[in-house]
Amino acid sequence: MSNELLTPDFKAEPYWWEAAPRPDLGAPALPAKADVVIVGSGYTGLCAALQTARGGRSTVIVDAEDAGYGCSSRNGGQIGWSIKPSYEELTARHGPEKAQAILREGDNALEWIGEFIKAEQIDCGFNIGGRFHAAHSPAHYEDLAHRVANQPPGIDHEGHMVPKSEMQSELGTQAYHGGAVYPAHASLDPGRYHQGLLERALAAGVDVIPNCKVTAIARSSSGTTVTTARGSIEARDVIVATNGYTGTVSPWQRRRVIPIGSYIIATEPLEPGLMDRLMPRSRAISDTRKVVYSYRASPDRSRILFGGRVSHNETDPRVSAPRLHADLVHLFPELAPVRVSHSWVGFVAYTFDELPHLGQHDGVHYSMGYCGVGVSMAGYLGTRLGQKVLGFKEGATAFDDLTFQTRPFYTGTPWFLGAAVMYYRWRDRRAR
Ligand SMILES: Cc1cc2nc3c(=O)[nH]c(=O)nc-3n(C[C@H](O)[C@H](O)[C@H](O)COP(=O)(O)OP(=O)(O)OC[C@H]3O[C@@H](n4cnc5c(N)ncnc54)[C@H](O)[C@@H]3O)c2cc1C
Repeated sequence: MSNELLTPDFKAEPYWWEAAPRPDLGAPALPAKADVVIVGSGYTGLCAALQTARGGRSTVIVDAEDAGYGCSSRNGGQIGWSIKPSYEELTARHGPEKAQAILREGDNALEWIGEFIKAEQIDCGFNIGGRFHAAHSPAHYEDLAHRVANQPPGIDHEGHMVPKSEMQSELGTQAYHGGAVYPAHASLDPGRYHQGLLERALAAGVDVIPNCKVTAIARSSSGTTVTTARGSIEARDVIVATNGYTGTVSPWQRRRVIPIGSYIIATEPLEPGLMDRLMPRSRAISDTRKVVYSYRASPDRSRILFGGRVSHNETDPRVSAPRLHADLVHLFPELAPVRVSHSWVGFVAYTFDELPHLGQHDGVHYSMGYCGVGVSMAGYLGTRLGQKVLGFKEGATAFDDLTFQTRPFYTGTPWFLGAAVMYYRWRDRRAR
């Protein structure tokens, strides 16, 4: 990227860290024992910990990096129904009843996060402002319209269509062919949400130990030994909450999640009036591309936060920034002179059936695989997992009996992704 496209104070880290800097938790001593040890301090780990600590179990969270270093302080803060496969796909795999139950979990997660943030009084800009899901071809507009008018049995997702001729009320671009509005969708500031969760976990007595990588998890007759870079902890229960950062410490889970790089840029503040022309409403925005763009105004409506897929494993935000900027300008030519103030990357976890998975393997609990839509689902399933550890029947979910699939020869390095992303981009460009 030519340096003129970066602001002088450009940062290769999330915009969200301005309002919620990485927490300084010091280097707390590692306890010798705990009822519950959780690997990973994102939404999944913190929400599971809140349940177990409030349920009276001594709970320790260990993270290899600063607390919340993973996706949970890096995402776009958009919240929808969070289930990727369609009713038709789910029905073909699991039958209509199970398909409905799985789709309802998406609704449950959306409802859960609104109620949770309210009950916990977390100040994170949570806003039920709706979503505009833009059609990138006329055929995709027709498909969206069909889906809005023909909902699966037992599902009632409010939505209405906005044709291209009226799209100016949603988006200041000619690049789409209209789209669907889903008023129930929401957005938040993910960094402040994580900070609020962390504060509540600490207040509940959870020990959060940052910068302490877990290197081994070994079962014995008396429990589980969690070995870390700074010593080991004896645990009654262990939860792996590492999602797209799942490594060799849990090889069974690693063979079942596909880490995919996901990228966002923040623009510098826009000139007055421009945001109101481009994004007149504070909606979450996404489109029908397979290699999807998702974007929004910042909570204070000063900047645009624009996310997409650059490649599957690029890790340098200075490399991803110009590519995303070019895509942004393709949609909104007026933004060509607007510079980039922040650029960052995170790793989401896809699964082979595009559904999240939680359960227990070899005595170790896990929840992961949110397929890039985990802002509500990670906390919701973390909560359910915490309830399972406590033995509560409320912990049951529609995902419990699904097989967590892998593929022959897959060990956690997605060698096939580069070709898949290229293919989907090509298909997106050809859409009519
Ligand atoms: C750029 C981007 C945009 C996104 N946008 C959205 C969005 O708009 N809407 C949406 O719903 N979802 C979005 N997501 C996905 C969402 O952020 C995630 O699904 C969710 O945050 C996952 O939370 P988690 O707690 O499971 O994992 P993470 O928050 O990723 O936490 C995993 C943690 O595990 C730790 N860890 C890994 N290995 C070890 C080890 N050996 N020892 C100790 N710690 C370890 C990591 O350091 C990390 O902190 C986005 C993700 C990204 C990256």
